[in-house]
Amino acid sequence: MIDRLESLSIRTSAREEIVNITEQVQRVTGASGVRSGMVWVYSPHTTSGITIQENADPDVRVDLLGHLAELVPRKASFRHAEGNSDAHIKSALVGASQAVPIADARLLLGTWQAIFFCEFDGPRSRRVMVKVLGT
Ligand code: ZN
Repeated sequence: MIDRLESLSIRTSAREEIVNITEQVQRVTGASGVRSGMVWVYSPHTTSGITIQENADPDVRVDLLGHLAELVPRKASFRHAEGNSDAHIKSALVGASQAVPIADARLLLGTWQAIFFCEFDGPRSRRVMVKVLGT
C-alpha cells in the first residue's frame, strides 16, 4: 500500500476565480507510484472549495461564479464581522474536497471533466492537499 500526502501552492489573482489544478494533481498521482487507488483533493480553507466540472467551455466556470454570486450576494444582512460571509457560504455550497479514482496511474476523470480550485475571497496564497492512496 502506498500512502502519499503532498501540498500544492496556488496564488489566486482575483476575489473570485476558478483555477484548473488537474495537471498538478495528476503529477502528484503519477509520482506516487500508485497505479490503482484513490486521490483526495482537499482545500484546508474556509473561503474556497474544490469542484469537478466541465473544462471544455470556459463559460461554464463564468456561469458557475455568476450564479453563485446571485444566490449569495456579497452585501446582505450577514452577522460575521469579517465581511466575507458570502465567501464562507459559497465554500460551504461547493465543499472542501473531491475524490477521484485512479486506474493505470491516471485520474479516472470523464472526457469533459477537470479538477478546479474555487477561490471566493482572494487574491490569496492558498494550499491544496493531495492525498494518494493505493497500490
Ligand atoms: Zn470570514
